[in-house]
Amino acid sequence: MKERNLVEGRLEEVHSSLRDNYNTKYTGGFVPLLLMKKVLISSCLLGENVKYDGGNNSIADNHFIQKLKNLNLLIPVCPEVDGGLPIPRVPVEIMKNRAVNKEGLDKTAEFINGAKRALEQAIKAGVKMAIMKSKSPSCGSGQIYDGTFERKLISGDGITTVLLKKYGIKIFTEYQIEEAEKFWKNQSFIKHSV
Ligand code: SF4
Repeated sequence: MKERNLVEGRLEEVHSSLRDNYNTKYTGGFVPLLLMKKVLISSCLLGENVKYDGGNNSIADNHFIQKLKNLNLLIPVCPEVDGGLPIPRVPVEIMKNRAVNKEGLDKTAEFINGAKRALEQAIKAGVKMAIMKSKSPSCGSGQIYDGTFERKLISGDGITTVLLKKYGIKIFTEYQIEEAEKFWKNQSFIKHSV
């Protein structure tokens, strides 16, 4: 429980400091249309080779992803690389609420750093939604691996997803693209214009 509080406490500090620094949280007032519609996305979903093994999880041929890309509305992030981890790298899972790699080394600081950078980019662009890679210890939403490195899933979010949700950003995985598209259309003041 103490470890859990340390990570959650650090994420809460990051959240509060970014919220206060930027003070741009959408509250229903006027926000330029294009800024509202930008979407944060896990860069491995766009085909960038940033995964721990040097590969990717591309869904770049999906029609909605292509539409966003053509409109220049995607903001790709890889919190693990942005947080200072190399490609390739030893895989990490969440273990007792810390990010620990398969060799037993604690990478929580890098994960929190990457989460902070992702939220900073989201805030600067006025992002209200993100499409994040499922099951990842950084980007996963709803389910993550259990820390045994045996491909077992448990309920939970990756560290970046925890921070993005804390800020009120709506998270979708690559299995929820239809819902993501509906949410994206509903963000627009001029619905169905693109
Ligand atoms: S941290 Fe996120 S973006 Fe980077 S490889 Fe893992 S799932 Fe993909």
